Amino acid sequence: MLKGKVAVVTGSTGGIGLAIARALAGQGADIVLNGFGEVLEIERLRAGIERDFSVRARYVPADMSRGDEAAGLVREAESTLGTCDILVNNAGIQHTAPIEAFPVERWDAIMAINLSQSFHTVRAAIPGMYRRGWGRIVNIASVHGRVASVNKAAYVAAKHGLVGLTKAVALEAAGRGVTSNAICPGWVLTPLIRKQIDIRAQERGIPDVEAQADLLAEKQPSKQFVTVEQIGGLALFLCSPAADQITGQELGIDGGWTAQ
Ligand code: NAD
Repeated sequence: MLKGKVAVVTGSTGGIGLAIARALAGQGADIVLNGFGEVLEIERLRAGIERDFSVRARYVPADMSRGDEAAGLVREAESTLGTCDILVNNAGIQHTAPIEAFPVERWDAIMAINLSQSFHTVRAAIPGMYRRGWGRIVNIASVHGRVASVNKAAYVAAKHGLVGLTKAVALEAAGRGVTSNAICPGWVLTPLIRKQIDIRAQERGIPDVEAQADLLAEKQPSKQFVTVEQIGGLALFLCSPAADQITGQELGIDGGWTAQ
């Protein structure tokens, strides 16, 4: 389905981003991986994608907290693999604290990575998508792009902003073969939420597995984690012809969290 297309997935050296990259590669897309990690481990992931799916895969170590590097990631995809047809803005970080104690530097970093990154990458990628008359922009937002939780001021603000950006771009791109959508996951068991589970286990003196169940019970009616493969499947669907007319949407995948 995606043979001949190039997909750039930010923050794809682990977690949700890696699962999305592998889902897109599974349908024939060439992949640009991005994110931090051990050099050898990243090379193992990159080579694994080439081997498992017979596609081209490149790794670009751009820092998504920097606008010039975010735009540069798209330019590098275009210069090494030819185009950027699918752009998945996935890199993201979290920090929890009440607003009066929220470190200013963490606010700035979350805004840069979780929101401004997407402005810079979309701005760089969309002219090529317009020229070719086809493009898919998939922004990985969160339930926190739709509703709030305590102690997450920066994350909630950035993800709501990302949903707004998704809609604005969808309107500009409408009718030009380019769609822009946001995926809004609930709890997914990745390193990003590890710290929150650890804090909960420590504060309540309970084992890890109980802290996980506790976290789910509080917000996610299904009481099950969303899996990274399920998010990969949804991103892939948004790149399929069935989704040609889906644009400007915030698609929940949250075990019922936002239905409450
Ligand atoms: P993760 O921590 O497992 O992975 C994050 C990825 O982003 C890693 O590859 C990391 O190297 C990369 N990254 C971090 N900072 C970067 C930077 N400055 N430049 C480039 N890459 C950078 O997290 P995850 O859970 O897979 O999260 C992926 C996205 O999904 C994030 O945007 C997150 O907000 C969102 N999300 C996660 C959950 C969840 O429960 N895990 C829920 C909703 C939304």
